[in-house]
Amino acid sequence: MVDVNLRMNKEINIKNYEFLFKVYKEYYFKNIEILQPPKEMQSREFGIMTFDSKVIRHLSFSNIGKLKAYVVQNVPSDIYCSNAYYQFPTFPINEKGWKGADMIFDIDLKDLLLPCQKEHTFYICSTCGIIYKDFIKLCNQCKGIKIIQNTIPCSKCIRFLKKETSNLIGFLIKDFGIKEQNIEVSFSGNTGFHIIVFDEDFLLLDSRCRSDIVGYLMGKNLSLESLGIRNNKQSYKIKIPLSGYSYGWRKRIAQKIKISEISNDKLNKLIKKIGGYEAFKKEIDKLIFEIGIKIDPQVTTDIHRIFRMVGSLNSKSGLSKIKCQNLDKFDPLNDSCFFLDNRDIDISINTSLNFNFKGKTYLLDKSTATVPLSVAVYLISKKIANVVKYS
Ligand SMILES: [Zn+2]
Ligand SMILES: [Zn+2]
Repeated sequence: MVDVNLRMNKEINIKNYEFLFKVYKEYYFKNIEILQPPKEMQSREFGIMTFDSKVIRHLSFSNIGKLKAYVVQNVPSDIYCSNAYYQFPTFPINEKGWKGADMIFDIDLKDLLLPCQKEHTFYICSTCGIIYKDFIKLCNQCKGIKIIQNTIPCSKCIRFLKKETSNLIGFLIKDFGIKEQNIEVSFSGNTGFHIIVFDEDFLLLDSRCRSDIVGYLMGKNLSLESLGIRNNKQSYKIKIPLSGYSYGWRKRIAQKIKISEISNDKLNKLIKKIGGYEAFKKEIDKLIFEIGIKIDPQVTTDIHRIFRMVGSLNSKSGLSKIKCQNLDKFDPLNDSCFFLDNRDIDISINTSLNFNFKGKTYLLDKSTATVPLSVAVYLISKKIANVVKYS
């Protein structure tokens, strides 16, 4: 019986891929202009993922026309472009002649640890296709161990993602002196934002320097000494730093706990009230975690990474990666979906769902449903639904 189910799941997956391939092909055919050339295109490495999950790297395109022709002809499931500039983009990594890399930050739902995640995260067995609402390591049905975790972001998720992105931009401008016009924000096409810094001062930084920047943004290793509080055996001493609390992390913490550099009386009283040096340190650590930016350190420190290309489809969601001109007003589940809803698709759903998409609320139960093309692409890409009928 299990064997029959697995075979059926394989057939269902093939049908899903055939459907997605067809609609992706249409997307690129109609929207090819959405693919924008990255800066110094000829110095970049490109990579693609095919619909049968093959990764092809070390590609190079001398102009956007050639890339567009390649995409329309091959219809990749995902298209990537390096943050690095190379002398020889098609050579193996160590022989490429690295000329620098844009600094990129990734703000993703997985790092925000929001409590609402539980309500809209699904665990899907990629062997038999069964969907679980609670975390599992091993599929009860087929004992498969390949479990994919997918989430359908709610409005709260989107709000927090945007807030975290704004906070990061605030740090980059105020603490690193990066000009706003040198910061580009894009929606990743699934559950996050990519923040790219185009600034010559950061171009040549190696992984270690980038890791230091990430550490600063996250507030790692920030000590009470930097606020002027020194541990003195069982007690503590306060000596406000000469430069006061006028910038950086000191300013942020001073503002939060409402202390000023004019007098240390208030700070002294506060530490006593909380219960001394160690208790105060714990409180400040909590505050640092709250203020610090939740980013994926590996993304920023990798200077040879390939990133999803602006305008390309994200096969994990069927949404496009696009630049955000106005982050406040940006609505990812509307503004990054370019599939026209000029036809309906029959899908089968393996779980119950309640979500918003393109301004509409969908309540779907374990059954078949007829939904607009964009919704079908979204749910099938998320592996939460299967295609039944399409034309
Ligand atoms: Zn299974
Ligand atoms: Zn949420």
